[in-house]
Amino acid sequence: MKISRRGFLKVSGIGILAVLSAPRVAFAARNSLRSLRTGVQPGNKTRLVIETSARPTYSLSYPANQLVVSLSNTAANTGITANLASSGLVKSLAQAQNGDTLQVIANLKSGIAPIQKSGIMILEPNGDNDYRLVLDFVAGSGAAAASSATATTATAKTETKQATQPAKPATPAKKYIIVVDAGHGGKDPGCIGKGGTREKDVVLSVAKKLKTKLDANGFKTYLTRSGDTYLKLAQRAEIAEQKKADLFISLHANANPSRKMKGFSIYTLSEKASDEEAKKLAEAENAADKIGVEGFTEFEENIRIALSSLQQHAVAEMSEEYANGCAKSFKKLSIEQQPGPDVRHAPFAVLRSTVPGALLELGHLSNASEEKLLKSSSHQDKLVNAIVKSIKNYNFDV
Ligand SMILES: [Zn+2]
Repeated sequence: MKISRRGFLKVSGIGILAVLSAPRVAFAARNSLRSLRTGVQPGNKTRLVIETSARPTYSLSYPANQLVVSLSNTAANTGITANLASSGLVKSLAQAQNGDTLQVIANLKSGIAPIQKSGIMILEPNGDNDYRLVLDFVAGSGAAAASSATATTATAKTETKQATQPAKPATPAKKYIIVVDAGHGGKDPGCIGKGGTREKDVVLSVAKKLKTKLDANGFKTYLTRSGDTYLKLAQRAEIAEQKKADLFISLHANANPSRKMKGFSIYTLSEKASDEEAKKLAEAENAADKIGVEGFTEFEENIRIALSSLQQHAVAEMSEEYANGCAKSFKKLSIEQQPGPDVRHAPFAVLRSTVPGALLELGHLSNASEEKLLKSSSHQDKLVNAIVKSIKNYNFDV
């Protein structure tokens, strides 16, 4: 029997999920165009930015010397003036309302190659901006350029063929929700390296970078903390529940009595620790709660009641699958791994929820060279790349 694992969780869920979750906000069905602009990016890339009031659903086509962006269920906006960069490939922009579909037509100085996935982003609203579909492209090259060149000179047949070639949307059909938890914070610094580097600062920096990159990759990402604040472990898990997260990632850095010990390690929840070291680590991480003044046991109690053993099994299985993929991604980028199994298990309080997830110890602050690495922006970027890759490769729906 193959059912959606999330679906399975919902079916057998007890009332507790409804109690803990805020009602979902329904988006207006109809989208509208807010602004159009072009710019030039490094590498001779022309950028077209289409701002809309709601998340855009779109397809791309490439008639001769044009780029046509078809936005479904979107209304034209004749009251706006497109802001065109003087350089770049776009000569002019036009709007054409075609039933429910709005076509934004970019008239180009030359043909372009079909835009790669890496050249397409959907940005979330921020500040004064609404949703933005961002398309980066260059003058045609390779096979696609050859066909574009043909199209400029040749038959209607070629043009028709090009016009009916839709691009795949860059984002997953469903927007998966990721909650990223930067461990510790506020009065709890976590572990501290010999050079004074604090775990709470390193993991917050990585968490923020991770959110930016995940959002740019079409995920909806929330941070449990975006500043230097103290949160109880169960509060962090509760945020994952409230946001109806599909995946929960808790970020930490490690310390070991042996200053020689190096490398990342990945953990999932289990009431029984896989080894003595994992057990000690969970005790150390769970001790963060002892720093708090008042208890926060109610949520934990509720979750324990709500989770039947079958649900625990399903969550554990999904977490395990994610964690294994994550270890692979880290190794693929040659990030040093702590000796031992790819994935370990221990009773981490922060992972106690109905949301699959893992706790990542990104490296050892107790090791001098790794402390330096963990502080460096370039290594943090590398860690972020590995985590993003692991999330993109994770099969959310099976
Ligand atoms: Zn920690």
